[in-house]
Amino acid sequence: MTKRAIIAGAGLAGLSAAFHLKKSGIEPLTFEQNNFPGGLSASFIKNGFVFDFTGHYFHFKNAYAKDLVFGLLGGKLNEIKRRASVRAGNEIIDYPFQDNFSQLKDRTVVSACEKGLKERKPRENYGSFKEWILGEYGKGIAENFMLPYNEKMWQFDLDAMLYLGTTAYTPSQKNDPKKKGYNASFYYPSAGGAGEAAKALAPLAGEIRFGSRICSINASARSVTVNDNIVFEYGRLISTMPLTELIAMIPSAPGAVKQAAASLKYTSVFALNLGIKREGISDKHWIYFPDKTLPFYRVGFYSNAAKHLAPAGTTSLYAEVAYPGGTTLDREAAAAKIKEGLIRAGILEPKDVILAELPLDIPFAYVVYDLEYKKNTSLIFDYLCSKGIVSTGRYGGWAYSAMEDALLDGKNAAEDILDA
Ligand SMILES: Cc1cc2nc3c(=O)[nH]c(=O)nc-3n(C[C@H](O)[C@H](O)[C@H](O)COP(=O)(O)OP(=O)(O)OC[C@H]3O[C@@H](n4cnc5c(N)ncnc54)[C@H](O)[C@@H]3O)c2cc1C
Repeated sequence: MTKRAIIAGAGLAGLSAAFHLKKSGIEPLTFEQNNFPGGLSASFIKNGFVFDFTGHYFHFKNAYAKDLVFGLLGGKLNEIKRRASVRAGNEIIDYPFQDNFSQLKDRTVVSACEKGLKERKPRENYGSFKEWILGEYGKGIAENFMLPYNEKMWQFDLDAMLYLGTTAYTPSQKNDPKKKGYNASFYYPSAGGAGEAAKALAPLAGEIRFGSRICSINASARSVTVNDNIVFEYGRLISTMPLTELIAMIPSAPGAVKQAAASLKYTSVFALNLGIKREGISDKHWIYFPDKTLPFYRVGFYSNAAKHLAPAGTTSLYAEVAYPGGTTLDREAAAAKIKEGLIRAGILEPKDVILAELPLDIPFAYVVYDLEYKKNTSLIFDYLCSKGIVSTGRYGGWAYSAMEDALLDGKNAAEDILDA
């Protein structure tokens, strides 16, 4: 390879791609628009509190990824047994709802869920995510948890979504004899936040230029323009930026490809991180809120997952509000609504003192598997492949995936260009 391999983005996928290229003797050059590594897996310190982009916990299905993270962190990760709940009506029950609804005092809901389970008609294939929910869980569980929760989180018509992709992340009665769901325990660094993994990987990933935004790509000349003025030629390009943005940066992309990229659907999330001057606000790691009168779909307590994330005598938490991708949100109004909702939900008290507040907006948070997903993504990936561009990671690969997958995506992308 004569020209350098360029990587767009120093999140876990980009860092992993760079790390694996470097290990194979290739010196990559990574451009990252932020001034820090990690992308959505970064952590921030404010007034003594360590905050992530909401709960970022490691769940390992792959031994290589697990070894990589343990190696990067010198083995300093704790395994934590999940304590998650669902707030259904005014009651808090254990998560997953479908396995624990009998804890509810509201017997009408319990009977409806039991009846739905008896009457449900599971099938091999479903036309939509909504059909899948109704077929797998029955009407009672659907109406009392799965539908309102998923509508709130995805901000998308569930009948216009495919069920693939979310299946593996949704606890299912038949797949789960222990009734604990897919993530009964998780790993978290025993010092610092989730961002420790990216911080450890960055120095092993070759040259990274921070504060460097790739703003246009000449796919024929194989060059990128950075910060509007500097042009770099590449031998191969690995991009981890959102797929929609990548295509929008290639002026010569065919109209059909541009149209497909512009049609991709996604959900945005506004996260409010708070440090509160009161300890023991909850004993949970996170709570799901299907109730549409509350703005957030999930609230989590960082300091319950790792005490070192908050000063003594305090609690740190996050609340997540979803909004449709491509729209804008009044963040100040959203933060005010969240705080008011936290009081209404009985989590905060009006007299609570907020010691730290860190709002974080995530414009690309969840990729939506809409009914055109497969058609649009295959058209885009075929085009990128023809131009020698590898687009990978959670948003580059346009998939619902986790930190572990981002690390593996980066490794695979490095192998792809080494094999070519
Ligand atoms: C709300 C939420 C909760 C999550 N919780 C978990 C969890 O508990 N466990 C888990 O494993 N995963 C979780 N995830 C998923 C996890 O965040 C992702 O899988 C992972 O961070 C994806 O890494 P990535 O490198 O693919 O993308 P990113 O982290 O988005 O990295 C992409 C990088 O590219 C940079 N970039 C973009 N455009 C440009 C450009 N034009 N020029 C230069 N740089 C650019 C960005 O600044 C960024 O640093 C969660 C995600 C969300 C949204």
